Amino acid sequence: MKNKEAKTIWFVTGSQHLYGEETLLQVRQHGIQIAEGLGQNERIGVHVVFTDVVTGMEEIRKLFQRANTSAGCIGVMVWMHTFSPAKMWINGLKILQKPLLHLHTQFNRDIPWSSIDMDFMNLNQSAHGDREFGFIASRMRIKRKVVVGHWRAASVAKEIDDWARACLGWDDWQGAKFVRFGDNMRQVAVTEGDKVEAEMQFGFSVNTHAVGDLVETVERVSEDEIDALVQTYEESYTVSKALQENGTQRGALRDAAKIELGLSHFLKTGGFKGFTDTFEDLHGLKQLPGIAVQRLMQQGYGFAGEGDWKTAALVRAMKVMATGLSGGNAFMEDYTYHFDPEDSLVLGSHMLEVDPCLASHKPSCEIHPLGIGGKADPVRLVFNVGAGPGLNASLVDMGNRFRLVVNEVEAVEPRHSLPKLPVARVLWKPLPDMETACKAWILAGGAHHTCFSQNISSYILEDFAEIAGIELLTIDQETRISAFKKELMWNETHYGRK
Ligand code: MN
Repeated sequence: MKNKEAKTIWFVTGSQHLYGEETLLQVRQHGIQIAEGLGQNERIGVHVVFTDVVTGMEEIRKLFQRANTSAGCIGVMVWMHTFSPAKMWINGLKILQKPLLHLHTQFNRDIPWSSIDMDFMNLNQSAHGDREFGFIASRMRIKRKVVVGHWRAASVAKEIDDWARACLGWDDWQGAKFVRFGDNMRQVAVTEGDKVEAEMQFGFSVNTHAVGDLVETVERVSEDEIDALVQTYEESYTVSKALQENGTQRGALRDAAKIELGLSHFLKTGGFKGFTDTFEDLHGLKQLPGIAVQRLMQQGYGFAGEGDWKTAALVRAMKVMATGLSGGNAFMEDYTYHFDPEDSLVLGSHMLEVDPCLASHKPSCEIHPLGIGGKADPVRLVFNVGAGPGLNASLVDMGNRFRLVVNEVEAVEPRHSLPKLPVARVLWKPLPDMETACKAWILAGGAHHTCFSQNISSYILEDFAEIAGIELLTIDQETRISAFKKELMWNETHYGRK
């Protein structure tokens, strides 16, 4: 399903004038056919549109200039049908600011053994034409994704889809605004970071509003709006007795709804794509936003607790990358371990704010005391999360660069009911095994906060890290600690220790 109608990948075919007009016409027709084939392919979540056949330096430079300024263009895919002398690409590549994919394919899948002649050979030259393009991109040190295979192959569509999803997330970050209510949770290190550097590197800005600004918006919420939202809660969730009409804590449910409406208005009015808060700075709010944050995350906003703006931005980007896919992407925290040697598990959760996009059943809406923050009991949604492959991703600031740490995991069905745990929770087994995964994560400096994903693969995040120009460390089935330590050392050399 292609949900992002307005966002497109531009398909550009390279050639030259050496072979005459008739050949160029065929090149164009084939380019259009490939672009249409990819555009209609259900495996690719973003539209691919044929843009042009290019044969000269000025033409290429102008086309890339247009790509840079087109709001709809989120990436450029190039393919050399014939030989396309690559010096003509230099000035274009110098200015291209959109992500680049080099599709190394050819129009025909098979060699037509009985009919092949020199005309066929002169038209179908991708095998060497794409090598010439590869050289200039490498010579210019241009980061790009290279996809190899026949354009109708499922594996090619999958790789293009991975990259196109990374492009969607990247595009969403450009000019995005994230708001922090209050600052960082006191003295926590990993949630800090260089917001100026982040804006330069990633394109999004992070700025603070006093929580009082939010309180003002919350106070303007009308009783009618609260009535309507409380009704939505009742229709969507199993509401616990104390929160039902005439229940002892009905007022707390209305307070929670009021906070959600205020937050929602604030985010919409300010054009924010995500936010953070902290239980240490809630002046004027009756309770720590629980259900409010949970529902806003489900609507697509990025969020992380305790002022963690990097995770909030990552959650947002991963939600956008997952457009049209089933499953969810959610703010998560590695909370506590089950160290049974036969069945090691991580229990992931947060003190309130787990995104119901992960819920495997109708959530229950409950109210329980919260030991920190010194406010009234917060209302929250409680649920379990189903089994399946997933991953955790964490973005940390290493001082001289941002590092994305990814750990592939296998979520498992809950085997116990946890009747006294008043928060939503996920159980997973990290790959390759508990000890190796946790050791590698700790050595990499990965945070306790992550984005837990049910539908974004580490391949998509690999493309995303490459587009963003940041370091990526993946912990998966293949990870061995001795090699991982060397990777950490080599990366220090690559980026330069600070
Ligand atoms: Mn936390």
